[in-house]
Amino acid sequence: MKVDLDSLTIAKARKMLDEKKFSAVELAQSYLDEIEKKNKELNVYLEVFGDVLEQAKAADKLISDGESYPLLGIPLAIKDNILLQGKKVSAASKILENYVATYDATVIEKLKKQGAVFLGRTNCDEFAMGGSTENSAFGPTRNSNDPSRVAGGSSGGSAVAISANLALGALGSDTGGSIREPASFCGIVGLKPTYGRVSRNGLIAMGSSLDCIGPMTKTIEDAEIILNAISGEDKEDSTTITDLTYPKHKSNKSIGIPWNLINQDGVDQKVKENFKESVKKLESLGYKTKDISLPNIGLGLAIYYIIMPAEASSNLARFDGVKYGLHVDGKDLLEDYLKTRGTGFGPEVRRRILLGTYVLSSGYYDAYYGKAQTARSILRKEFDDAFKQVDFVLTPTAPVPAWKIGEKSDPLSIYLADVFTITANIVGLPAISVPSGTMEVLKKNLPLGIQFMAPHGNEELLFEVSKKFLQE
Ligand code: GLN
Repeated sequence: MKVDLDSLTIAKARKMLDEKKFSAVELAQSYLDEIEKKNKELNVYLEVFGDVLEQAKAADKLISDGESYPLLGIPLAIKDNILLQGKKVSAASKILENYVATYDATVIEKLKKQGAVFLGRTNCDEFAMGGSTENSAFGPTRNSNDPSRVAGGSSGGSAVAISANLALGALGSDTGGSIREPASFCGIVGLKPTYGRVSRNGLIAMGSSLDCIGPMTKTIEDAEIILNAISGEDKEDSTTITDLTYPKHKSNKSIGIPWNLINQDGVDQKVKENFKESVKKLESLGYKTKDISLPNIGLGLAIYYIIMPAEASSNLARFDGVKYGLHVDGKDLLEDYLKTRGTGFGPEVRRRILLGTYVLSSGYYDAYYGKAQTARSILRKEFDDAFKQVDFVLTPTAPVPAWKIGEKSDPLSIYLADVFTITANIVGLPAISVPSGTMEVLKKNLPLGIQFMAPHGNEELLFEVSKKFLQE
């Protein structure tokens, strides 16, 4: 039986599986057929697992035993920086090309308990460093809306898995926008949860104070289903939140817009127009909008591109050619390190290691890292104050639509694409990217997205406003 994947969502598929409209094996096979047709061109999966149908069979057995979990039998795509025991996990890097994970990430353990089916591991920027998936050591992922364009990144493979019907739901990771920016480039939903809501155990670390695992889906309802499945306190990650009873904001429906950031140069005119239309739509739905001043929000990029490389340089020190993955022999231990890291890491990863080592070095620590941490606290305070006046902060998700593969050769110009997304990571807030229509470029309609941020722990508010916006 061929399952019609176009209109399928996780919620619908679960009902249909329970009603025996199709089996988990038939559903998984339909995705495998689609992957067979499209993966060569789009480069979404770095590996499709060999045991997909076995996993689906196990799910069918549970279904026939009368079990029903929200993700039972649901085919998912997993970003290639999340560990599945016994499967390769490369972070799209040569240094880990043949590395096999020795344990399951906590999120995977949780999904396995629900009987989810893992289709494969998806392409991304190397060690999640990038905004287009062009930094993958295994070639870029192509955007299914226009294959000459990037998918966004770093979770580009997971985004196209959803937009091209190559999975029903996906996990990505977001350190500065890597779930939300590709979601907006591909016309899907992407949620970065509150820092600490989802365990980072088993996520290959980039910037530990910023990293979050989150869902990428077709609908808000599906994002909610995955978030509920993967969140919770974890003794393997001491930064997970023990008390999820955050003060709940009364939804008085007010939205703050930092126009100072949105009106700056570098934001595409059509992105601004689309954003203004979205604001109008929200107003017509009864939301009050208000210009809020977050005077230091413009410092986000500078803060992020100091703190993130600092943490990444320290996290990536473990890849020494001895403990994990690639080993290149030199004449002594030092040369082993130099050769392994010199050949194993790509240019963007090396750039960030150098930058991070520099800002942490004793002569410069206070001038850069120390200052960035101070600025981070100031930004946190500004958001706390803003949320005394409004329930949400709204921005476009990215200042531009998906660009042509190879178009941006200067890494700084790609960093600028993070201007709206990074603050949520710096401050630890939950943020969601929701499709807001398309803009026409060279006769192609390219998806755009808007981003809602809410106070810590208030994902429910994000789901509520996004459902209204999308009329779900
Ligand atoms: N584009 C950002 C960067 O290059 C964000 C990456 C991410 O969120 N993993 O760092």
